Amino acid sequence: MDNQADIVSRIDRLRRERGALILAHSYEPGEVQDVADVVGDSLELSRIAAQNDSAKLVIFCGVHFMAETAAILRPDRPVYMPDPNAGCPMANMITPRELAEERNRHPGAVVVAYVNTTAEIKAVSDICCTSANAAQVVKSIPADRPIIFIPDRNLGDWVAGETGRKNLFPWRGFCPTHNRIMERDVREARAAHPGAPVVAHPECRPEVRAIADRIASTSGMVRFAKESPAREFVIATEIGMCYRLAKECPGKRFWPVTELADCPNMKLTTLEKILWELEDLAHPVRLDPAVAAAARKPLEKMVAILGQ
Ligand code: SF4
Repeated sequence: MDNQADIVSRIDRLRRERGALILAHSYEPGEVQDVADVVGDSLELSRIAAQNDSAKLVIFCGVHFMAETAAILRPDRPVYMPDPNAGCPMANMITPRELAEERNRHPGAVVVAYVNTTAEIKAVSDICCTSANAAQVVKSIPADRPIIFIPDRNLGDWVAGETGRKNLFPWRGFCPTHNRIMERDVREARAAHPGAPVVAHPECRPEVRAIADRIASTSGMVRFAKESPAREFVIATEIGMCYRLAKECPGKRFWPVTELADCPNMKLTTLEKILWELEDLAHPVRLDPAVAAAARKPLEKMVAILGQ
């Protein structure tokens, strides 16, 4: 294939011709982040997808549930994925049948679904959240109502601690990428970068979170890094985040706590695939309209709470 600069200029030309908005998650490869119109976490990208009125179509560089979310929030605008095989193993760790059985175990419970869930699961959930607003969403639920938190046990456990909710029942899912980060990785990174604060994502294991200096969503990490007087940071999340942080905080250095925290699904998107998608529009996100309508409700409830 042609050299990178050539591919980027062809992407730019086609993006203008098609009126395409290119969105990329912070875990995408650096060159994909560079070509995107917006780089963000799932909350930031969901908001952009819902609010942007000028784009004719969206090219979503991320994993499947994210592109689905963009399509759910704006059904009038097509969303395309450069690689439709980019899925999220954690999103597939709960099925509608399992959720129905869990509801039977906790009568009267409110189901809080992390956005890292399929459209089918959102459609049978009560309210969505992201890692940036999970505590706020949980606090909005009356204290006497049990909460089923899906699908991430680590985020669920962290939110229960942050909010003091004893009646929160996390599902047993987990992110395989964040689970690869071990306590010893944090200790070794601290020794290698003395004085650098360790910032961990709430999807990390409890023992990793316990020895971090700060727990933050990806958007929270950007804010913290900009405001902190520190010049170096150890980052305990997917390694693509270090690229975004370095770009947004010039002059500061960001060390991944381990190079093993590399999500293979996020890395399926390449510049070539973005170009091919702009050329052929071969991979639209397709959703059953009834499922999409039902899945929109918990997402809108989340957005309404954030506006309060
Ligand atoms: S980093 Fe984890 S949660 Fe995010 S897409 Fe990859 S597997 Fe899913």
